[in-house]
Amino acid sequence: MIVENKLTDNFDRDFPYLRLSITDVCNFSCSYCLPDGYKKGKCNGFMNKNEILRIVRAFAGLGTWKIRLTGGEPTVRPDFINIANDISKITGIKKLAFTTNGYRLYDNAQKYYDAGLRAINISIDSLNANKFKIITGHDRLNEVLDGVNASINAGFETVKINTVLLKGYNDDELDNLIDFVADKPVSLRFIELMRTGDNQDYFQKHHLSSSLVTEKLLGRGWHSIKREDGAGPAVEFKHKDSAGSIGIIAPYSKDFCKGCNRLRISAKGALHLCLFGELGYSLREYIQNDSQIEDLQNKIRELMSFKRSSHFLHDNNSGATPHLASIGG
Ligand code: SAM
Ligand code: SF4
Repeated sequence: MIVENKLTDNFDRDFPYLRLSITDVCNFSCSYCLPDGYKKGKCNGFMNKNEILRIVRAFAGLGTWKIRLTGGEPTVRPDFINIANDISKITGIKKLAFTTNGYRLYDNAQKYYDAGLRAINISIDSLNANKFKIITGHDRLNEVLDGVNASINAGFETVKINTVLLKGYNDDELDNLIDFVADKPVSLRFIELMRTGDNQDYFQKHHLSSSLVTEKLLGRGWHSIKREDGAGPAVEFKHKDSAGSIGIIAPYSKDFCKGCNRLRISAKGALHLCLFGELGYSLREYIQNDSQIEDLQNKIRELMSFKRSSHFLHDNNSGATPHLASIGG
């Protein structure tokens, strides 16, 4: 599909990738994200399936070809599979991905694949069952690991593990985590802990620079490889003796925002130009019926002029995001 008027910003970046949150609800209580678990507000007001599909059609018409469903925990939505199934059939969408905590993944991996999902990111912050339980509030490490294998067997094109680097929790596990991919065709990505509105003290205590991992990888004979088209911000490393790869996502690194290629939509239908930006621009009034697609696209284009060149994390400014479950991490 040739797209005229592709979505761009004032810094010549274009946006093939949309991270689409479909719920804020989560059944885990990760210590850096929702330490007290999800608290239901007065009115959830999450987008219904038709609203979600209108958003995707509008973005697909503006050149977006990769969609990642996220949350909260996207798979807790009862219509998760229906949503995936319908999005995967939208013209222009070439890759449908999702990020999950791995809950019930072992049972459902094949169903997710059959619904058209082709890329999966599974969060695992520790390979030690006790620490996994302390971090997530759930004694489910083995179940989630079974889910990783089930995803590989189901045929997912990409299986990635997200591991948030946490001083005092998993900094003594780096070698084990690197070895985890030795015989698995998966990419394990170390993500630097990000400061959000709700985790300031936690961040001070547990943030760990990813340079530690880079040094370890280089010392063990790993080398960095080129970024794929439409890929995220991870710097990827390979090793000749490892089936899998290791990625590093370092939002505090210089030039992290230079290659920004994604936008975010919250579960309530607000456009977020940056994970660490404003409160979000509501698109809700533009997704109430199918005839609004052009108005919606014009609105999205207009809002792009507000996208800034970079986040302001270096100034200790994490924007308006209380935690990543509220915007779709
Ligand atoms: N619930 C799903 C999950 O955990 O995979 C999807 C949503 S979660 C917000 C998406 C990703 O963001 C997870 O890999 C999680 O570990 C990561 N994350 C959440 N809060 C974070 C933070 N403050 N810093 C870095 N990563 C964070
Ligand atoms: Fe839930 Fe994901 Fe946040 Fe953990 S990181 S609390 S699984 S939304």
